[in-house]
Amino acid sequence: MLFAHDTEEALNAATALVNTVNSDEERLPDVAALNAFMERYGWTGRHERTDAELRAVRELRPRLRRIWETDEAGVVEIANALLREAHALPQLVRHGDGPYHLHATSADAPVAERMAVEAAMAFADVVRSGELARLRICEYPGCGNVMIDLSKNRSRRFCDGTCGNRAAVTAYRARKSQGA
Ligand SMILES: [Zn+2]
Ligand SMILES: [Zn+2]
Repeated sequence: MLFAHDTEEALNAATALVNTVNSDEERLPDVAALNAFMERYGWTGRHERTDAELRAVRELRPRLRRIWETDEAGVVEIANALLREAHALPQLVRHGDGPYHLHATSADAPVAERMAVEAAMAFADVVRSGELARLRICEYPGCGNVMIDLSKNRSRRFCDGTCGNRAAVTAYRARKSQGA
Protein backbone atom coordinates (compact mmCIF):
# COMPACT_ATOMS: atom_id res chain seq x y z
CA MET A 1 0.00 0.00 0.00
CA LEU A 2 1.22 3.43 -0.98
CA PHE A 3 -0.49 5.47 1.75
CA ALA A 4 -2.14 4.54 5.05
CA HIS A 5 -5.44 2.67 4.56
CA ASP A 6 -7.55 5.58 5.73
CA THR A 7 -5.71 7.95 3.40
CA GLU A 8 -6.34 5.73 0.39
CA GLU A 9 -10.02 5.38 1.31
CA ALA A 10 -10.31 9.15 1.65
CA LEU A 11 -8.59 9.72 -1.70
CA ASN A 12 -10.93 7.29 -3.43
CA ALA A 13 -13.98 8.89 -1.80
CA ALA A 14 -12.86 12.42 -2.73
CA THR A 15 -12.22 11.30 -6.31
CA ALA A 16 -15.66 9.72 -6.52
CA LEU A 17 -17.27 12.84 -5.03
CA VAL A 18 -15.65 15.14 -7.61
CA ASN A 19 -16.79 12.78 -10.37
CA THR A 20 -20.44 12.98 -9.28
CA VAL A 21 -20.60 16.07 -11.47
CA ASN A 22 -19.19 15.92 -14.97
CA SER A 23 -19.99 18.42 -17.70
CA ASP A 24 -23.79 18.38 -17.79
CA GLU A 25 -24.52 15.26 -15.76
CA GLU A 26 -25.48 15.63 -12.07
CA ARG A 27 -25.12 12.36 -10.17
CA LEU A 28 -26.16 13.90 -6.85
CA PRO A 29 -29.52 15.26 -8.03
CA ASP A 30 -31.33 14.75 -4.72
CA VAL A 31 -31.06 13.72 -1.08
CA ALA A 32 -31.59 10.04 -1.97
CA ALA A 33 -28.56 10.10 -4.29
CA LEU A 34 -26.45 11.62 -1.51
CA ASN A 35 -27.67 8.90 0.89
CA ALA A 36 -26.59 6.24 -1.60
CA PHE A 37 -23.21 7.88 -2.12
CA MET A 38 -22.57 8.10 1.63
CA GLU A 39 -23.55 4.49 2.13
CA ARG A 40 -21.31 3.36 -0.68
CA TYR A 41 -18.26 5.16 0.74
CA GLY A 42 -18.93 4.23 4.35
CA TRP A 43 -19.89 7.65 5.71
CA THR A 44 -21.48 7.40 9.15
CA GLY A 45 -22.10 10.11 11.79
CA ARG A 46 -24.34 13.13 11.44
CA HIS A 47 -26.50 12.97 8.34
CA GLU A 48 -29.44 15.37 8.08
CA ARG A 49 -30.91 14.29 4.74
CA THR A 50 -31.80 17.89 3.92
CA ASP A 51 -31.45 20.01 0.81
CA ALA A 52 -29.06 22.31 2.70
CA GLU A 53 -26.79 19.38 3.44
CA LEU A 54 -26.94 18.26 -0.18
CA ARG A 55 -26.13 21.80 -1.36
CA ALA A 56 -23.09 22.03 0.94
CA VAL A 57 -21.74 18.72 -0.38
CA ARG A 58 -22.28 19.82 -3.98
CA GLU A 59 -20.51 23.12 -3.30
CA LEU A 60 -17.47 21.26 -2.01
CA ARG A 61 -16.91 19.50 -5.36
CA PRO A 62 -15.47 22.39 -7.43
CA ARG A 63 -13.07 23.22 -4.59
CA LEU A 64 -11.83 19.64 -4.54
CA ARG A 65 -11.61 19.49 -8.36
CA ARG A 66 -9.23 22.48 -8.25
CA ILE A 67 -6.77 20.17 -6.46
CA TRP A 68 -6.39 18.23 -9.73
CA GLU A 69 -6.05 21.36 -11.80
CA THR A 70 -3.59 23.45 -9.83
CA ASP A 71 0.09 23.13 -8.90
CA GLU A 72 1.62 22.11 -5.58
CA ALA A 73 1.36 25.59 -4.04
CA GLY A 74 -2.30 25.67 -5.08
CA VAL A 75 -3.01 22.28 -3.52
CA VAL A 76 -1.37 23.39 -0.29
CA GLU A 77 -3.49 26.52 -0.23
CA ILE A 78 -6.74 24.60 -0.76
CA ALA A 79 -5.93 21.87 1.77
CA ASN A 80 -4.88 24.41 4.40
CA ALA A 81 -8.01 26.49 3.82
CA LEU A 82 -10.30 23.45 4.17
CA LEU A 83 -8.57 22.43 7.42
CA ARG A 84 -8.60 25.95 8.80
CA GLU A 85 -12.26 26.63 8.00
CA ALA A 86 -13.33 23.47 9.81
CA HIS A 87 -11.01 24.10 12.79
CA ALA A 88 -9.61 20.63 12.16
CA LEU A 89 -8.11 18.90 15.16
CA PRO A 90 -6.43 15.57 14.33
CA GLN A 91 -7.09 12.75 16.80
CA LEU A 92 -6.23 9.06 16.62
CA VAL A 93 -9.42 7.02 17.00
CA ARG A 94 -10.60 3.47 16.50
CA HIS A 95 -14.03 1.93 16.12
CA GLY A 96 -14.35 -1.28 18.10
CA ASP A 97 -11.41 -3.51 17.21
CA GLY A 98 -10.66 -1.67 13.94
CA PRO A 99 -7.26 -0.12 13.27
CA TYR A 100 -6.31 3.31 14.58
CA HIS A 101 -6.76 6.11 12.11
CA LEU A 102 -7.01 9.88 12.12
CA HIS A 103 -10.19 11.86 12.47
CA ALA A 104 -9.89 15.62 12.41
CA THR A 105 -13.55 16.51 12.94
CA SER A 106 -16.18 15.09 15.25
CA ALA A 107 -18.86 12.68 14.06
CA ASP A 108 -21.53 15.35 14.59
CA ALA A 109 -19.88 17.93 12.34
CA PRO A 110 -21.84 18.52 9.11
CA VAL A 111 -21.26 15.97 6.36
CA ALA A 112 -19.73 18.45 3.90
CA GLU A 113 -17.31 19.63 6.58
CA ARG A 114 -16.23 16.09 7.40
CA MET A 115 -15.82 15.30 3.70
CA ALA A 116 -13.74 18.44 3.24
CA VAL A 117 -11.48 17.71 6.20
CA GLU A 118 -11.00 14.05 5.39
CA ALA A 119 -10.05 14.93 1.82
CA ALA A 120 -7.73 17.72 2.95
CA MET A 121 -5.94 15.40 5.39
CA ALA A 122 -5.45 12.83 2.62
CA PHE A 123 -4.19 15.38 0.11
CA ALA A 124 -1.80 16.68 2.78
CA ASP A 125 -0.33 13.15 2.86
CA VAL A 126 0.01 13.14 -0.93
CA VAL A 127 1.83 16.49 -0.84
CA ARG A 128 4.14 15.35 1.97
CA SER A 129 5.01 12.19 0.04
CA GLY A 130 5.74 14.15 -3.13
CA GLU A 131 3.15 12.09 -5.01
CA LEU A 132 0.94 14.77 -6.55
CA ALA A 133 1.73 13.38 -10.02
CA ARG A 134 -0.62 10.53 -9.14
CA LEU A 135 -3.57 12.92 -9.36
CA ARG A 136 -4.59 12.91 -13.00
CA ILE A 137 -7.48 13.57 -15.35
CA CYS A 138 -8.78 10.54 -17.28
CA GLU A 139 -7.15 10.47 -20.73
CA TYR A 140 -10.19 9.13 -22.56
CA PRO A 141 -11.36 11.80 -25.03
CA GLY A 142 -14.23 13.84 -23.62
CA CYS A 143 -14.31 12.07 -20.22
CA GLY A 144 -12.82 14.67 -17.89
CA ASN A 145 -13.18 12.55 -14.74
CA VAL A 146 -10.51 13.00 -12.10
CA MET A 147 -8.57 9.96 -10.94
CA ILE A 148 -5.94 8.94 -8.44
CA ASP A 149 -3.40 6.38 -9.61
CA LEU A 150 -2.55 4.19 -6.61
CA SER A 151 -0.92 1.52 -8.80
CA LYS A 152 2.68 0.47 -8.16
CA ASN A 153 3.96 1.37 -11.59
CA ARG A 154 1.90 4.57 -12.00
CA SER A 155 0.43 3.18 -15.20
CA ARG A 156 -3.25 4.10 -14.87
CA ARG A 157 -4.50 6.34 -17.64
CA PHE A 158 -8.27 5.96 -17.40
CA CYS A 159 -10.89 6.49 -14.69
CA ASP A 160 -12.88 3.78 -12.95
CA GLY A 161 -15.81 4.22 -15.29
CA THR A 162 -16.06 2.48 -18.61
CA CYS A 163 -13.15 4.43 -20.10
CA GLY A 164 -10.52 1.70 -19.65
CA ASN A 165 -12.72 -0.81 -21.51
CA ARG A 166 -13.61 1.66 -24.24
CA ALA A 167 -9.95 2.54 -24.77
CA ALA A 168 -9.06 -1.16 -25.05
CA VAL A 169 -11.80 -1.69 -27.65
CA THR A 170 -10.64 1.36 -29.66
CA ALA A 171 -7.03 0.12 -29.60
CA TYR A 172 -8.13 -3.38 -30.65
CA ARG A 173 -10.16 -2.02 -33.59
CA ALA A 174 -7.24 0.17 -34.68
CA ARG A 175 -4.88 -2.80 -34.65
CA LYS A 176 -7.39 -4.91 -36.55
CA SER A 177 -7.98 -2.31 -39.27
CA GLN A 178 -4.23 -1.84 -39.69
CA GLY A 179 -3.82 -5.59 -40.12
CA ALA A 180 -6.65 -5.82 -42.66
ZN1 LIG B 1 -13.23 6.39 11.61
ZN1 LIG C 1 -12.81 8.35 -17.90
